[in-house]
Amino acid sequence: MTSAELVIDRSATVMNRRRLARLVGSAECAAVVKADAYGTGLEGAVRALAADGCRTFFVAHPSEGIRAREVAPDAVIYVLNGLAPGTAGDYGPWRLRPVLGSPEDISEWQDYVHATELPGEAAVHVDTGMNRLGLAPADWGDVAARRRDNTLGFEITLLMSHLVSAEEPEAGINGRQIASFAEARALFPGVKGSLANSAGIFLGPDAHHDLVRPGYALYGGNPLPGERNPMEPVVRLSVPLLQVRDVRPGDAVGYNGTWIAGRPSRIATVSLGYADGFLRSGSAPTGVHAAEAVVAGVVCPVAGRISMDLLALDVTDVPGAKRGDEAMFIGGELDIDRVGRNAGTIGYEILTQLGRRHPRREVR
Ligand SMILES: *Cc1c(COP(=O)(O)O)cnc(C)c1O
Repeated sequence: MTSAELVIDRSATVMNRRRLARLVGSAECAAVVKADAYGTGLEGAVRALAADGCRTFFVAHPSEGIRAREVAPDAVIYVLNGLAPGTAGDYGPWRLRPVLGSPEDISEWQDYVHATELPGEAAVHVDTGMNRLGLAPADWGDVAARRRDNTLGFEITLLMSHLVSAEEPEAGINGRQIASFAEARALFPGVKGSLANSAGIFLGPDAHHDLVRPGYALYGGNPLPGERNPMEPVVRLSVPLLQVRDVRPGDAVGYNGTWIAGRPSRIATVSLGYADGFLRSGSAPTGVHAAEAVVAGVVCPVAGRISMDLLALDVTDVPGAKRGDEAMFIGGELDIDRVGRNAGTIGYEILTQLGRRHPRREVR
């Protein structure tokens, strides 16, 4: 191979959504495409999912919503991060729906809808335990009363909340949030409800409501940590070896010489570093097993510091490894969850950092 390849398998994302949709029966399976579709490319993801029948998308910022709108003219698009002060005007022209999460968000949206005479469809986020976004329980009744009295001035098209620990099914907070969300829904009869992210879908029917909001699992992330990943991998990253050298016992590799050869070793240098989104926290001083790559079917550890544009792999166990051979950093047994663990983080962070420099290539 001659250059780095970051390959995005769109059909795998489509298959993953179909798989989740089957699990939730009659509930709608939307798609979260914030952060450039978790680093896989927002437009490509939205186009492929919309063509397969996905009708509802969630982004974090209005700018992402505009990008989604350009490729999905008929979709429903919600902007998760509430209404930043003074931004209501970014929503109307693009038919974006804000997810209103505070009394201030709601009054700003009311003013905007009143002034523009737009229908003003919006979601309302009720907080059930995250303490991040969403109306506190003490504010639910007031909003519900105004909806009942027809003084709200806009239509609530979705009532939603967000799970704190969905990927830990045994955590007590799940049951408390499910109960609290049911209380909220009772105050808003006739409004559709949405609670589950990727992992939340696997908590069972009590968490499904009318619409589920997976992100990570669509891009191949494991919604069931510690169990076999039921999703198809979407991302593959491979980079050719630039050069391979012999080092003697006692020789140091990389910045600050943190890795010292304990045996006669073969070290391969690769054009991949933290400026490419390959996190420096995957660095491996002597005795630490951190980031890895597969070369000729063998899992090889990173040796020493990951630098900005380069890293070193210990390919001693791959006899015959040579310049131009492929090192696969994500793919096969190196799924994004394992890559995340190796760097002391989660697969979500790995995905969203990729693609800054290596061009993405989509396959279908
Ligand atoms: C990011 C996000 C999701 C998707 O979560 P995943 O764990 O990636 O499936 C769903 N809902 C909200 C409110 C989010 O912020």
